[in-house]
Amino acid sequence: MFNQELEVTLQKATADQLKPKPDQNNLGFGQFFTDHMFTMRWNRRQGWHDATIEPYRTFAMDPAAMVFHYGQAIFEGMKAYRGKDDQIFLFRPQDNFDRMNQSALRMCMPRFPQDRVLQALRAMVYLDQEWVPKTPGATLYIRPTMIATEPALGLRPAEEYLLYIICCPVGAYYSGGFSPTKIYVEDSFARSVPGGVGNAKTAGNYAASLKAQDLAHDKGYTQVLWLDAVEHKYVEEVGTSNIFFLIDGEVITPPLEGSILPGITRDSVLQLARDWGYPVRERRIAIDEVIAAGKSGSLQESFGTGTAAVISPVGEFCYREELVQINGGVAGTLSKRLYDELQAIQFGEREDPHKWRVRVG
Ligand SMILES: *Cc1c(COP(=O)(O)O)cnc(C)c1O
Repeated sequence: MFNQELEVTLQKATADQLKPKPDQNNLGFGQFFTDHMFTMRWNRRQGWHDATIEPYRTFAMDPAAMVFHYGQAIFEGMKAYRGKDDQIFLFRPQDNFDRMNQSALRMCMPRFPQDRVLQALRAMVYLDQEWVPKTPGATLYIRPTMIATEPALGLRPAEEYLLYIICCPVGAYYSGGFSPTKIYVEDSFARSVPGGVGNAKTAGNYAASLKAQDLAHDKGYTQVLWLDAVEHKYVEEVGTSNIFFLIDGEVITPPLEGSILPGITRDSVLQLARDWGYPVRERRIAIDEVIAAGKSGSLQESFGTGTAAVISPVGEFCYREELVQINGGVAGTLSKRLYDELQAIQFGEREDPHKWRVRVG
């Protein structure tokens, strides 16, 4: 399974297989894909094999492939950043592959040799480097994915898997300015349950979240704030981001107790806040405490953290018809400072004391 000898074959796209590049000022999110992809297969007999960087293509799959029926599917989200002198960086990619192997373990999928896959990813991003956007704030989004491909309908862990990585240039998240979002606090639907799969980046979690997200959209809100599934009391996450509060000068985020996705941006924010001398607490925080702090004025800031947006400031919470505005509905100082610092590290413009950057090529 941990075959360190794993060879990666390179099949370069031919000139006529190269795709036209999209308009760099109109990239959107996840609409255009690069010239190459990485694929690798697993079965019980051979372990991981056929690791290949090859031209981007469609898959032919058996309709009985187990992923279509029982949902063994996990993924990751990370980015490549173009810095000065056309240097290209990844941000904490080992942590993404670590987490993907954790997700694999939870979903009874095979673990993979992270170092080899990271090496292959670096080679592929180097090969597709012309796809890493040059427009400010735009990045190359990277989507590692693993699915169960064995054609069989008996319910058990599959015995054949495909791991692949695709990449897409994406536009700057804040093209309209670093503006806060309106958040709907969801107190009946739940994202994740104790003992469930909330801490795994597995496809079903996102399918299960769509309904509440849809309803919140209809009410005019951008995202859902998820509460714990047992008491609908404790704050868990916001949309597909981790959530932070700045209350009376203290940085607070819910602890990793199994129902929350262990975000790499979350971890980076905790580290930076500590570096900067903020008191930092990972603790349970009840929605009633958030609302009360909002009303008394001690809730100074709140923001979501994730790879896509980096930092997403919250301007307003709606909880059971009650509205709480934060910082007058404008982004706070800490949110902005964290956003600027993380972006500067990611794009190679600032020192990297924690060695988060990995150079490509
Ligand atoms: C991916 C994800 C996050 C953020 O993780 P990052 O590593 O910071 O991108 C948070 N919550 C959920 C549910 C996620 O899927």
